[in-house]
Amino acid sequence: MQVRLIECWRPIVAVPKKKKSKMKSRSHRAAAWKLNAPARSTCPRCGNAKTPHTVCPHCGTYKGRVVIDVG
Ligand SMILES: [Zn+2]
Repeated sequence: MQVRLIECWRPIVAVPKKKKSKMKSRSHRAAAWKLNAPARSTCPRCGNAKTPHTVCPHCGTYKGRVVIDVG
């Protein structure tokens, strides 16, 4: 009897009852990308918002020195 129980043992896993429709999964994915806001940091020289680890587009500086000539 004990052996028989082990024989028919299966791992209990959650199985969805119905297939998720294309619209459901698409709308789920469409809502997810909006959650991550773009990375922002402020420039220490001009104080404008810029993307981190990049040259500031407003004053053209990176790590305190002028890298590109802006305006
Ligand atoms: Zn700047």
